Amino acid sequence: MSVHVGEAAQAPDFPSAAQKLVANTQLRHNVRHATDVIRRKRARVVDEMSDWQQLREAGQRIKDHTLRHLDHYLLQFEEACTRAGGKVHWARDADAANCIVIDLIRSHHQTEVIKVKTMTSDETGLNKVLHHAGVTPYETDLADLIVQLGEDKPSHIVVPALHRNKMEIRQIFLEKMNLQELGDRPEDLTAAARNYLREKFLRVKIGISGANFAVAETGSVCVVESEGNGRMCVSLPQVLISLVGIEKIVPTFQDLEVFLQLLPRSATGERMNPYNSFWTGIASGDGPQEFHVILLDNGRTQVLADEESRETLDCIRCGACLNVCPVYRQTGGHAYGSVYGGPIGAILTPQLQSMEHSQSLPYASSLCGACYEVCPVKINIPEILIHLRGKVVENGDAPFTERMAMKAAAFFLESGDRLATGQKLARIGQLPFVHDGTISRLPGLLGGWTAVRDLSPVPKQSFREWWAKRDQEKR
Ligand code: SF4
Repeated sequence: MSVHVGEAAQAPDFPSAAQKLVANTQLRHNVRHATDVIRRKRARVVDEMSDWQQLREAGQRIKDHTLRHLDHYLLQFEEACTRAGGKVHWARDADAANCIVIDLIRSHHQTEVIKVKTMTSDETGLNKVLHHAGVTPYETDLADLIVQLGEDKPSHIVVPALHRNKMEIRQIFLEKMNLQELGDRPEDLTAAARNYLREKFLRVKIGISGANFAVAETGSVCVVESEGNGRMCVSLPQVLISLVGIEKIVPTFQDLEVFLQLLPRSATGERMNPYNSFWTGIASGDGPQEFHVILLDNGRTQVLADEESRETLDCIRCGACLNVCPVYRQTGGHAYGSVYGGPIGAILTPQLQSMEHSQSLPYASSLCGACYEVCPVKINIPEILIHLRGKVVENGDAPFTERMAMKAAAFFLESGDRLATGQKLARIGQLPFVHDGTISRLPGLLGGWTAVRDLSPVPKQSFREWWAKRDQEKR
């Protein structure tokens, strides 16, 4: 099985990518401004819910139950979807999913597709494969369109073009839509996107969507969005292909009552998404007359098998953990080298790829716990990060400096005498670097630590020394 998560396998490690991105002050400003706005909106609409914590617990329980019985619910979904006139395909990995899509497009002799809300297709690298096969994909979600026309990469799982400001977007539209003039008000930009997309909605015969949820009981697929482009993408084409990660299954329609409250408030600070689209199989003379669902594994069953990190699959992709993460807010999503950025990306990408290419991601966190506090399904991201860091060490892939530091720490900590000697040596060794009671600059490799923070000097007296002295004085 060849699992890929976008281009994560070729991406530079997090520290190298982040170092370049933090130097881009415009990008940092854009990311901070946008995440501040969403955080404020989220806090307002969450505060007005007296049962928010109960809702979170209900969401967590439904997800936990579903994952424990995923085999059952997937088969139930297949049966219900087939009964309603849909066709279910099973894709073991990204390559298999992309092949199914290409075969379906070729069987209809088409060379264009419209797409909406398909982060999973970014995961499988579908657009690249489509181009290679002579098929032109048109992204129709506004943010995805900005990313596509700007030949860029998504930087946020809910707002993929969050790193762009309106002047940058205006410039992209002017160039790529061949416009002579364009204002810079949000309504000017959305009007330009509407003109560009409408004709494609009406002409292109195949639509490709992702899914926020897939309901086992009814075989329905659900997409929530704010623009209405998704609604057009799933209802106007003759053929609809929905690419769905296997963790998107929920057992019953009623379960959506919980998630459709948790998701919009956490994602965009809205009480309800303006467009909630559901489709179940096909209906004669109404909407697509051919409907395919591709259920994608691509490493998810591997994650499912690890009890300590299985809850990663509970994620409903709201992006709240990105908006509060002090690391993401400095670097933006591109540093994570994957379609999944921020705290959820730091735990999901390394697991999907078996830690093969993404060992640096579990370290892209201060472990402050802000992500856990906001997560609408209570995923304990800090604990999973620590679990994954343990795996990096087990694999012998921890950074050289960390391994050396841990060896040195073990040498001194395993004997009281050695620790006392080490403390005495450190007190003498630090003298040239202590100024005004603080160490602001250390030499060599240790300089990395003091480059961005001060260090307290080793105390004049250790706790043991203080205790021994106290005992002596009492006698
Ligand atoms: S981990 Fe939680 S907060 Fe982060 S995107 Fe997923 S559901 Fe949202």
